[in-house]
Amino acid sequence: MQNRKDQERLENSLKGIRQLLTHLHGEVSALEDNYSQVLLVLRKIENAADVDDLSGLLRRKAFFRKWEALLMDCLQAGENCGVLLVDIDHFKKVNDTHGHQTGDEVIKKVSALLKQFESPACVTGRYGGEEFAIAVKGTDAEILGMAEMIRRGAERLHGPVVGVDNVEWKCTVSVGVAHAKKDGYESTKLLKSADDALYDAKRRGRNQVRTAA
Ligand code: GH3
Ligand code: MG
Ligand code: MG
Repeated sequence: MQNRKDQERLENSLKGIRQLLTHLHGEVSALEDNYSQVLLVLRKIENAADVDDLSGLLRRKAFFRKWEALLMDCLQAGENCGVLLVDIDHFKKVNDTHGHQTGDEVIKKVSALLKQFESPACVTGRYGGEEFAIAVKGTDAEILGMAEMIRRGAERLHGPVVGVDNVEWKCTVSVGVAHAKKDGYESTKLLKSADDALYDAKRRGRNQVRTAA
């Protein structure tokens, strides 16, 4: 008799423990779900902070982070890569003539053009106001070919001037190019070299691609 009562008590206790465990399991799963969702939101915020609103391209700091990784990859693999500095020509005049809003439209269109080149082997960023940087793997000829495609692509861009009927804007860009095998696998050296080349392109009349001497 006593044994049966003990047995019942034991079974009841076990049932209680089982229910508690099932409940706890549910709570832990819910916590895990919440945790994953928080991580997901954090990752989204992190990615959003990396991207510039107007251009949709990487901000300077995020660009450098990815560029450094690409440089390291290339150095280890013995591959060439390069950097392009793309600067919109006489952009101040675009703002002065057509207004800041139209200027923003030009930046958006040039950015969209550059974004088309994005790939695991090509990182694009907004380097400054109307200046962009592209880090890309490839041979010297491939990198120069891409720079020329960008220059020609920019020549084809156009759009309506904001607030003015039947007037279109056009634009050109100058591009300075540096190659890692020639200038070194260091972002600072490459930037200096590409910047010198960009300056040379501007000095020679703009709307052209130049490589540093
Ligand atoms: P250059 O051909 O030598 O590059 O001449 P530039 O006029 O393009 O260069 P400058 O550096 O004199 O002027 C750049 C202008 O870009 C000045 C600045 O007001 C404008 N700018 C920078 N960021 C933005 C932006 O986000 N939107 C607009 N609309 N203008 C911007
Ligand atoms: Mg400019
Ligand atoms: Mg500039």
